[in-house]
Amino acid sequence: MKSTYVISLAAAALVLSACSSSDSSSPAPEVSAITVLATTSVIGDVTRQIVDCGGGTVDVLMPIGTDAHDFSASSAQVASMVNSDLVVAVGLGLEAGLTDSFENAASDGARILELASQLDPIEFGAGGHSDEEGHDDEEGDAHGSQDPHFWFDMNRMATAAELIGAELTTITGDAAYTTCADTTASELRAAEGEVRALLESVPADQRILVTDHDALGYLADTYGYEVAGTVIPSGSTLAEPSSADLAELVATIKAEGITTIFANVAQPSALAEAVAAETGTDVQVVPLYVESLGASDSPAATYIDMMRTNATLISTGLQG
Ligand SMILES: [Zn+2]
Repeated sequence: MKSTYVISLAAAALVLSACSSSDSSSPAPEVSAITVLATTSVIGDVTRQIVDCGGGTVDVLMPIGTDAHDFSASSAQVASMVNSDLVVAVGLGLEAGLTDSFENAASDGARILELASQLDPIEFGAGGHSDEEGHDDEEGDAHGSQDPHFWFDMNRMATAAELIGAELTTITGDAAYTTCADTTASELRAAEGEVRALLESVPADQRILVTDHDALGYLADTYGYEVAGTVIPSGSTLAEPSSADLAELVATIKAEGITTIFANVAQPSALAEAVAAETGTDVQVVPLYVESLGASDSPAATYIDMMRTNATLISTGLQG
């Protein structure tokens, strides 16, 4: 890995010197002026803070509102992975449509930092979704039983920021990236306190979640919630529920007296609406920001705002 990097750096230097000899007006690039590509808008926002602070630039692969499970890259986007100094990804199968792209880009020399596997991942079902083992869903289980949705725990995201900073310092030799990442991590840990206060304002016996897919395990695990059921009985949105799955969910909602289904802003909520209607009781459907930030004029334009907004929606949705 190290020797590959040295070779590619030498090649880059050759290209740079070739460029500068033909264009003497452009200033010599600084070592720190790297380019980073992040896969999702959620990790892209945190990556951008660190990289901007350190003097580099960031592109985010997936547009706002994209379902991260379902996104596939064009060949130009695979080339941009190879041309970036670093690709920051969630991993653990979240970006299921990018598996081949990651392999192709890596074999062409891309440097890919996968975060989730380094953040003490939990297993699907750790939030109390007890029948996960019973499902034999090919797509849902294709990436194993570890849950990639770590960003629902802001302390893990703070650790992710430190991992990104350390990697950027390794690449550039510039300690500024580590310092920048420490600042970002501190901000995330401070904001986590607000989110914790919101989520812990819900009485313990009301902390029961029904969500669109099994994405909130980290939140449940961290704040003492139970995931009683999911509209899509999988850790991925790529699976589809059977009518038996939906009937079981309706029964669970009625038995537990659940009044809110937390859907997904980036997904059609028709199925959640149908489940709510089928219960015959007054069940509301409240979309959360699950896999993507919201637009710049939304209340989830940044990762911290997204988490604050989700926590507010959950605490009011369960107590309203
Ligand atoms: Zn997901």
